[in-house]
Amino acid sequence: MIKVVKFGGSSLADAEHFRQVAAIVKADPTRRFVVPSAPGKRDKQDTKVTDLLYECYNLIKARESSEVIDAAYDRICERYNSIIRDLGLDFDLSGELSYVKNAMLHASGRDYAASRGEYLNSLILAKYLGFDFIDAENVIFFKDNGTLDEEKTQEVLSAELKEHAYAVIPGFYGGMPNGTVKTFSRGGSDITGSIVARAASADLYENWTDVSGFMMADPRIIDNPCIIQEITYRELRELSYMGATVLHEDAVFPVRMAGIPINIRNTNRPEDAGTMIVAHATGYDMGKVITGIAGKKGFSVLTIEKDLMNSEVGFGRKVLEVFEENDISFEHLPSGIDTMSIVVSSHALEGRRDRLMQSISRTVRPDSVFIEDELALVAVVGRGMVKAKGTAARVCDALARANVNIRMIDQGSSELNIIVGVDESEYEDALRAIYAEFVK
Ligand code: ASP
Repeated sequence: MIKVVKFGGSSLADAEHFRQVAAIVKADPTRRFVVPSAPGKRDKQDTKVTDLLYECYNLIKARESSEVIDAAYDRICERYNSIIRDLGLDFDLSGELSYVKNAMLHASGRDYAASRGEYLNSLILAKYLGFDFIDAENVIFFKDNGTLDEEKTQEVLSAELKEHAYAVIPGFYGGMPNGTVKTFSRGGSDITGSIVARAASADLYENWTDVSGFMMADPRIIDNPCIIQEITYRELRELSYMGATVLHEDAVFPVRMAGIPINIRNTNRPEDAGTMIVAHATGYDMGKVITGIAGKKGFSVLTIEKDLMNSEVGFGRKVLEVFEENDISFEHLPSGIDTMSIVVSSHALEGRRDRLMQSISRTVRPDSVFIEDELALVAVVGRGMVKAKGTAARVCDALARANVNIRMIDQGSSELNIIVGVDESEYEDALRAIYAEFVK
């Protein structure tokens, strides 16, 4: 049995958290490979080390005075030094810290600067745990175009991991073919953890954070939402796409390919089971129709009306071609007999509205074409919907009772989700009504 464990920034923000992390790792000898983030916020007002590094990089780039740069870099040093000091660790990081500063002053690049957050934190954690240190730069590879070189990474990393019983591998970055360092997008240590899990042929990828799992709905809107015990990769993807965040979206692919489940866990409450993300659900709870609800504001609908549209062969293709020519991707396509609606993010329409409308008018000669804004989408997601009858009716009923007007409704044929479009001003009410109907 092999477990790969990734700890997020808030789980490694200070010495106290380092102790919790060590206790978790040591409690289970199968937790062999550890992937840390950079130290995160210790409280709401605090700044993540990654952000301090970006800030420092910007100051250097802007040719600020050495006093200003020194002060910014000292804040970073102090974060690490206080962790070492408070842990009572016999470890001198000063050589590394001045090397990094020097490299940053000599134009080593933005990604290099940001990646040092994970690099330095991993050195400390490896020392504290008594584990080997494997630099991600030498085992995670990007191609020239900036995408992950999956094959090379899998080959080199899996061979390297075989050489170590226990190791720490920094998250967030890897090496480019020209020898420079490149980072993933923000939150990318989740991806590293997933890549390491795959390369180690792990049985489980544990992702330790500061919540006890994936919540059924946004806690900023729903008071104390239930935790999802088990969710499939596909459900997770639907929910993440709609804005629910716990895990980096791209973190799912490597483990999903290898069929390795992910367990979201809470470093501050290790006794909680957290959420299991699996390929196929095992313990299906018959009482639960939906797994989660998520949503986003900021959508627009472009509606095209034309008599006898349904009998006009190629109509849809021509419309979508116009979108393609304008480089706009669509989110949903709910259609009636003589109307076609295309839901897009309002952001994607910026500066392209007139051109888009004109091209559509010219191409398909509709009776009318118009755009409506301020649409919010709510995704009701659940593998249980296939078996339960009347779910869409329950969604509609709940919204009607809450006096929320449905502007659009779309059920995917996979019956994994129902998407409703409502006015942005009614988004929170819609979410609460649906949650109350299906959960409590
Ligand atoms: N430290 C990086 C960030 O703040 C990566 C991560 O934490 O996953 O985005």
